[in-house]
Amino acid sequence: MPNSPSKIGSMIACKCPRCRTGNIFKYPTYQIFQFSKTYENCPHCGLKYEHETGFFWGAMYISYGFSSGLMIVFGIFAINMNWTFTNILITIVSMAVVFTPFFFRYARVIMLYGLSPNRRFDSKYL
Ligand SMILES: [Zn+2]
Repeated sequence: MPNSPSKIGSMIACKCPRCRTGNIFKYPTYQIFQFSKTYENCPHCGLKYEHETGFFWGAMYISYGFSSGLMIVFGIFAINMNWTFTNILITIVSMAVVFTPFFFRYARVIMLYGLSPNRRFDSKYL
């Protein structure tokens, strides 16, 4: 189908895995006090996002992996650049604060796209 949205583009834009049109999150990422508000159902096709209780708890592990990966890569970089411990600590804490909304959201998106059976793209919901 030529006009169907791409999977990667829909994941980056945080769209529903089934219709790739409805939003997963209620507010944009930059609204720092509301970035975590997730729709219960897709506003476009009605897909229930959290199809079982605690489904999004698994996203915590994915988010943890994102954070750990970032800090390991940054830590190797900072040590090779001979940064002081204080500078490394301040930078890592700042990065953790800045990237938390992104890690939170994309961990949920990965859960919805990758670890949810029966949530494949279906063009009849476009
Ligand atoms: Zn949908």
